[in-house]
Formats: sequence, structure tokens, C-alpha cells
Amino acid sequence: MPNSTHPSLDWLDAEFAALEQQGLRRRRFARAGASSIRVVLDGLYLVNFGSNDYLALAGDPRLAQAAIEATRRQGWGSAASPLITGYAIAHQQLEQRIAEFEGTEAALLFSSGFAANTGTLAALVGPGDVVFSDGKNHASLCDGGRLSRADVRIYPHGDWRRLESLLTGSRRYRRRLIVTDSLFSMDGDCAPLAELVELAERFDAMLMIDEAHATGVFGQHGRGVAEQLGVESRIPIRVGTLSKALGSMGGFVAGSRRLIEWLVNRARPYIFSTAAPAAIAAAALAALDIVRDEPQRREDLLTRAAALRDTLRSLGWNVGNSVSQIIPLVVGEPDRAIALSQKLRQRGLFVPPIRPPSVPKGEACLRISLTSGHTEEMITTLVEGLSRP
Ligand SMILES: *Cc1c(COP(=O)(O)O)cnc(C)c1O
Repeated sequence: MPNSTHPSLDWLDAEFAALEQQGLRRRRFARAGASSIRVVLDGLYLVNFGSNDYLALAGDPRLAQAAIEATRRQGWGSAASPLITGYAIAHQQLEQRIAEFEGTEAALLFSSGFAANTGTLAALVGPGDVVFSDGKNHASLCDGGRLSRADVRIYPHGDWRRLESLLTGSRRYRRRLIVTDSLFSMDGDCAPLAELVELAERFDAMLMIDEAHATGVFGQHGRGVAEQLGVESRIPIRVGTLSKALGSMGGFVAGSRRLIEWLVNRARPYIFSTAAPAAIAAAALAALDIVRDEPQRREDLLTRAAALRDTLRSLGWNVGNSVSQIIPLVVGEPDRAIALSQKLRQRGLFVPPIRPPSVPKGEACLRISLTSGHTEEMITTLVEGLSRP
């Protein structure tokens, strides 16, 4: 029976019409093939500048092989939540490996970065507590704040002085938690981690840093922006993801043993959701080997990203404050972003338009994600497509 026969959902038609009119209706298309570098859209093969596969590991045969071997040995499904019987030796090994990688006592694996953030926030604060959250934090951090039922105070993006004055007035709360992305997913800029660390210590606040887009990319060993800035050891709650530069799936929290034990006992997405297949952990282990053994991947990526930003600026584009492989071209209105994206599509390039609610109103952009898999030729084609006629 077609869904349209359920009149209780008729309100959806009006909502869709409104989205359509504002240029905000979203549609999906299917990716084809093993590499993230090419996508098929309406039958056309396009070079993909819209993935988070920063080190080009998602399609790497070494990850696939690790997953296949693990599957042969341990089967596919985990069959239970981790606390019942879903926690496999592969998960345990990966957690130990992540803790070594991050230089922390322990680490905890979640099925996604989204679950890591919502679960951790809601486990650390509750009613009577307060969360200080950057205005451009990822949706999962925002939702975690809401789920926690703590008060949430949003400070303007990167504005640590404003955060300082909010902290000054926060003594009445039981617990304080400052939370931020380290590398922002839409702007490609970094949080002022040195200042945040200092404030957290001065005001006795917990500090939680989400390195989702920086894990594997930033820092000498690929641990993220905190490593790059030399403040890692002063950040008690570090979140990273296996699903972006590491080409696998899942999120993690790294920190002290007591923090991790608390999350095992209190993080609801961890407790009440089936453990990810062990094969996912095996693939992530293979990815961590590559991150250790092939540092030139991240070094080349950041060098080439810097060159691309310079070129785009010299062509007159506004790339905002990007310092990374994420390069937005800020154009303002959704219609302009969509038109520019269409123009590039005709040249065989996919660069996604980013619209509200992913970015604030008036800041629609094209978001270029550069990865190790892009060739110089592909980048040249992109630059030509963006040269004003
Ligand atoms: C993508 C992202 C997440 C979610 O990670 P998944 O593993 O994709 O669920 C969390 N935080 C930030 C900042 C992200 O960009």
C-alpha cells in the first residue's frame, strides 16, 4: 500500500513544498565502486570533492583484507550490546591500540562518532550542570547537550573571551563542561584549544574536544589539532572518529581509566545498542597502522590543501578561515551554492553545496574536501572550473 494513502502524513507535502521553495530539499544519490574518489550521479562519473575520506583509506585494499579476515575468523554480527556479550577481542585490541595512539590510559569504542558524542555528554552532565558549546559545534554535540538536560550556553564561534565571561558567571552550577570540535566540519578552521585549555583549568571545568575531522590528519603522529598545538595531555575527554580519515566506521573516546569506566556504566548509546561488527575494528586497526607508517599521506594532504587555498584566494574566492583540507567557498545564498555546484558538475566534479541548517542562514557555501586520493590533474580541473570567466 503506497504511503500516500495515510492521510495522517499529508502535512509532509506542505513541508516539502516549503523546503523546495527555499532551495533546502535534500536528495541522496548512490555512490558506485570501491573508491570514494568517483561518484555516479545521474549516470555520470564525477570526481568526488565531497567525502571525508581524507587519507583515501576507505577503499584501500588493506582495510578490506583486514575486515575479510576478521569476518572469516569471527563472523559478521556482534549479536549483543557490548555489556552483554557483544564486546569482542577485536574491539578490546582496537581500544588498547587507540589508547596507545592517543597516549591515554584507556579508550572506548562507540558504533559511531555521533553516538560517542551524545552518549558521553549525557553521561558527564545532567540537571544542575552547564555545558558551554561553540556556536558551530557538530549536531551530535548539540544533541548531546540537549539529551543531558544540563543548561547549555552557546558562545559565538571560537570566541574564548565570551566563553570566559560566561564561565565567570557559572559558579552556581554543580559541574561545568566545555565542548568543541577541534577542526570545524564546515569552515575548516580550528578551535582556540590553547585558550580553552587554560580557561578549563582556571575555572575547574571539564574539557571535551571532538577531533572527528582532524584524527589521522593533524599533528605529527596524526592525533589531531590538540597534538599539533601541544595541549593533548591537558584535555581530559578526547573524541575521535574511525569513519573519516581512518576510512572505517565508529567513534571513540580516549582518556583516563576512570573516565572510560564511567562511560561504560553510563553512556546510553554504548549500553543499549549492539556492538559494531568486529570486522570494523579490524579495518580500523589496519588504518591505524597506515597512519603510523605513512606520515607522508597527511603531510602531503595539508601541503596541497594550503596551496589550493592560496590559489582560490588569488582567484577572489572567500575561503573563510580555513586552515585545513576542508575548504569552504562562501557564497551566501543557497541558490548560488546550488548553481555553482551544478556548473562544476558539468566539468565532471562533485562539490556539494552546503546549506542551512548545516550552516547558518546567509553562509551557504560549496565545501571542498581535499583528500590524498585527488590527483594534481583533478585539482587543476577544479581550479579551472572556479576561474571566473
Ligand atoms: C562526522 C562527525 C561526527 C560523527 O561521526 P560519525 O562517526 O560519522 O558518526 C562527530 N563529530 C564531528 C565534529 C563530526 O564532523
